[in-house]
Amino acid sequence: MFEKILIANRGEIALRIQRACRELGIKTVAVHSEADSEAKYVKLADESVCIGPAAAGQSYLNIPAIISAAEVTDAEAIHPGYGFLAENADFAERVERSGFIFIGPRPDTIRLMGDKVSAKNAMKKAGLPVVPGVDGALPEDPKEVVKIARSIGYPVVIKSAGGGGGRGMRVVHTEAALPAAVHVTRSEAQAAFGNPSVYVEKFLENPRHIEIQVLADKHRNAVYLGDRDCSMQRRHQKIIEEAPAPLVDSRGRLRISERCAEACRRIGYQGAGTFEFLYEGGEFYFIEMNTRLQVEHPVTEMVAGIDIVQMQIRIATGERLPFKQRDIALRGHAIECRINAEAPYSFTPSPGRITSLHMPGGPGIRVDSHAYNGYFVPPHYDSLIGKIIAYGDTREQAIARMTIALSETVIEGIETNIALHRELLRDAAFLRGGTSIHYLAQKLAKLAKSEM
Ligand code: ADP
Repeated sequence: MFEKILIANRGEIALRIQRACRELGIKTVAVHSEADSEAKYVKLADESVCIGPAAAGQSYLNIPAIISAAEVTDAEAIHPGYGFLAENADFAERVERSGFIFIGPRPDTIRLMGDKVSAKNAMKKAGLPVVPGVDGALPEDPKEVVKIARSIGYPVVIKSAGGGGGRGMRVVHTEAALPAAVHVTRSEAQAAFGNPSVYVEKFLENPRHIEIQVLADKHRNAVYLGDRDCSMQRRHQKIIEEAPAPLVDSRGRLRISERCAEACRRIGYQGAGTFEFLYEGGEFYFIEMNTRLQVEHPVTEMVAGIDIVQMQIRIATGERLPFKQRDIALRGHAIECRINAEAPYSFTPSPGRITSLHMPGGPGIRVDSHAYNGYFVPPHYDSLIGKIIAYGDTREQAIARMTIALSETVIEGIETNIALHRELLRDAAFLRGGTSIHYLAQKLAKLAKSEM
């Protein structure tokens, strides 16, 4: 086992990784920007190194500074968390070339999955169903593009091969709108991701977002830990996640989960990973694979009884998976509400000092948060200040416990989205389960109308 790990991240996930390390008896190094020097996880870490000013580009994305921090502290491995450098193949490569272990898949796997065109092709070859489209990036010739879109059938979506974070895509309903849409997406993709390559696929009108969590070791053993429904999204960003996904037929679920594990074995995947699917009309369609820990991993941990972060670390040391698929029993239901420092209905960020804080507790409640009374939420980063996770024997019990937990939670001094969560937890469609990825936007539009 490692003696010391450097955590190249901030916020709740830095604290989460630290807790996993402590339980495994591993010392931790926190790296932080000047804006985060007072953070709880920085104080709790065994050592800490300031790696630059507040701007992420000069700190959490500063590869040389992170590598030198690992060198001066004699860390053996680097955990990237999520976001920032977690899916940067060049970073993973630099880490390994500098003599450290990157806690995650091999750089070539990260690169393969980072290009959505190559990811989709690889997964199709490995036997996963993908969103109907054509293999490969769109050619330059506009006539060819028209032919391709026609063969798929409208509406279609133009997506950037290098895209991420819900950006770099455009829905096209008619042939007349196609050339302009391709042109704009291409230039945006070049500007935002440094890669002008775009591709086209069928736009699914009313899908759900369902993903499968996998773990694979360095010896071609792979298991799945069940699925999560992450359809409740604002601006393509998830805010409520649950495991298992409600109202999915058990045979379809089993078949897709087994294929994900099999795909991992075939490509020699290593570490924790997530296969993301759109789910419509009882069918799964692969959209992308995330080669890292997800924000929503706790709901899976609750139903599987497995610590995914500890497993990532153990896999990185070369250990074999300590269980087989048949040893994994998924039990009960878990829901996560992401608590963001933002106005609940407009999503405008609300950084500032927390003047009063009370987090919930009780049976089945888990809180993953770096916030504390008096904590200053910096304006420079993502607005996530914590996650409340509720577990129950049934979905109804998990929802009831979450409702109580949210009613107990007090966060003053800044705005949070707790009011929106409370509203969603008593929403009839959410209570039935199985709402689509467009549900929240539609509900908010209705609410805005009724206020006018
Ligand atoms: P990103 O890496 O930017 O998150 P994804 O490919 O995962 O990009 O897509 C993000 C979101 O966009 C999905 O969760 C879904 O809401 C929507 N989306 C993506 N592809 C399609 C599609 N073919 N049809 C309908 N919606 C889609």
